[in-house]
Amino acid sequence: MQFQDFQNFARSKGFACTGLMAYGYEGNYPVLLQYISDDEWGFSLTANIPYPQPLYSYLNTRCNKHTVRHIICRPDAISCVLTFHHESPEQLYQYLINTLSQHFINSGIVPLTFCPFCGQDHCDAVCIVQNRYAPVHEACALQVYPPASSENVDIPTVGNMGLGILGALLGMLVGILPIFLCNLALGFSFMPLYLVIPMGSTLGFKLFQGPNSRKGKNIVAVFSVLGMIAAILLILIAACLREGFPASALPSLLAFSFSNNELFIILFSEFIYGLLFDIIGIILSRRFIFHSNRFPSETFHQHLDTLQRL
Ligand SMILES: [Zn+2]
Repeated sequence: MQFQDFQNFARSKGFACTGLMAYGYEGNYPVLLQYISDDEWGFSLTANIPYPQPLYSYLNTRCNKHTVRHIICRPDAISCVLTFHHESPEQLYQYLINTLSQHFINSGIVPLTFCPFCGQDHCDAVCIVQNRYAPVHEACALQVYPPASSENVDIPTVGNMGLGILGALLGMLVGILPIFLCNLALGFSFMPLYLVIPMGSTLGFKLFQGPNSRKGKNIVAVFSVLGMIAAILLILIAACLREGFPASALPSLLAFSFSNNELFIILFSEFIYGLLFDIIGIILSRRFIFHSNRFPSETFHQHLDTLQRL
């Protein structure tokens, strides 16, 4: 589901949209939705939850841990990340709301009435506070937040898979260079340089506007592994040429290595360490390059824009 669909869904619920966030009410409870990627939305609902632990256990038993992840229950809010695999966002969202409503009725949970800034009752407005949409006193919010800055929030563009794949390929080729050149210069591989291949691939994919989706991440992972294999083959071809063999002798040398323990161990450890650093690189890239805007509202300085008087 792309950003446009996220906004359409939010508007169909009567939510307002600012930047990557959508906020409004489910019954009497303020809800904040955050667009993280095409497959992930942040969700938080503000309520007065005297006993967060039972709610946490209840949600863990009622929700699939692959689709409702990172559940956090606090006395004033519940938050989680909705992850879409094949189910429709509408269905998953509605299931979560129904599940929460059921528990709220059974355990007497009511809407929050205290202002998070001063802890007093009789709120006269509602606005985004950290990662939730909460009732506040307008005066308190005005004191805490500086006047709305003119900072613009990056709106994700609709990705282009074809260009993204081209970017991942180019990034992969650039990422192969450090490990290959290091091996050429030093005669051995400095293994952590295999990290550069997935990072190059991911950066290329992002720079060429590849979509921030699960499919996109999988494509980058494939390029990362292919890049590692290509790097090892290049290193081997260079070694062949160095030893005076033609590059075409590589297949028979590889076959020979299976009957030669010493050679096999060298090749096998290059592959295993290469793969290890490749996988670490894929994980780091997903965390820091794909998800550089994992929690959009943390960089959102226009909280006051979301303030609405009650
Ligand atoms: Zn207050």
